Amino acid sequence: GAKEEGRGRYRLFEAGMNARIQARRTLELDLRRAIARQEFELYYQPQVDARTGAYDGAEALIRWHHPQRGLVSPADFIPLAEETGLIGVLGEWVLRTACAEALSWPKHLTVAVNLSPVQFRDARLAVTIRNILAETGLPGFRLEVEITEGSLLQDEQRTLAILRELRTLGIRISMDDFGTGYSSLSYLRRFPFDKIKIDQSFVRQTPDDKDSAAIVRAITMLGASLGMKTTAEGVETDAQSSFIAGEGCDQLQGYLISRPVPADKIAMLFSPENRIAQTA
Ligand code: C2E
Ligand code: MG
Ligand code: MG
Ligand code: MG
Repeated sequence: GAKEEGRGRYRLFEAGMNARIQARRTLELDLRRAIARQEFELYYQPQVDARTGAYDGAEALIRWHHPQRGLVSPADFIPLAEETGLIGVLGEWVLRTACAEALSWPKHLTVAVNLSPVQFRDARLAVTIRNILAETGLPGFRLEVEITEGSLLQDEQRTLAILRELRTLGIRISMDDFGTGYSSLSYLRRFPFDKIKIDQSFVRQTPDDKDSAAIVRAITMLGASLGMKTTAEGVETDAQSSFIAGEGCDQLQGYLISRPVPADKIAMLFSPENRIAQTA
């Protein structure tokens, strides 16, 4: 009867849930081991000047080479690292590695590092970053931090204090995935951003979808009026690139220019011998 069926379904549901909890536990153990065994690597995706096509720098994107599962996407392990608090050590490793690796690039190029909202719960974050700059020797103006709305939803005074301290070190602050949150506009007024990154979801549908095109245009104008740079992320086609550049957006990032690549490959792309490719 219906009752029997319901019970059966519940058991199935329970089994599914147990499997998920088990998978999560396994992944958490793997993650702890991965930190100790250094199974992580940073890939870098170039960002170019939208007018000239010259390289401005690159965004660091973490990759996990799992011994059995192969490459695990950050979308699958960053949330777990945040829940378990492991993002603290992992985030520091990302910062230190990105700063150290960017040191070999030409001196005008910047490196952008993603920060998790959980990292902002630590009031000492700015001190940690200052120490990493000192240890690696990377000047503050060559580092950008990318933060999402999640970081701004927390204790506003603490977040503001951290961001102000970072700015005194010359570090630039970018708002990532702009336009997808709840009240992004008020954040632009309350926090000291240098750059707005237009979310891929808008970029993807330009220029054919008129609404997306209008949103990209509006964000670009907003950035210009507020004295902030704008970067379009997820640029995949020539049509997107020329439309967005034509709107006056400052920077482009996406598969059209390059997929994220390992450190040795980005150093090659950035090397002066490769200058011809940069302006092509
Ligand atoms: P994000 O910071 O918005 O990074 C952009 C994501 O879009 C990257 O995915 C990048 O590979 C992808 N992407 C770039 N261009 C294109 C394109 O043209 N087409 C498409 N379809 N995708 C493109 P990825 O590397 O998988 O990272 C996903 C997210 O994971 C990042 O989004 C960021 O929120 C997070 N993440 C990555 N590395 C770190 C890290 O070191 N620390 C923290 N806290 N989060 C990270
Ligand atoms: Mg980012
Ligand atoms: Mg983004
Ligand atoms: Mg994102």
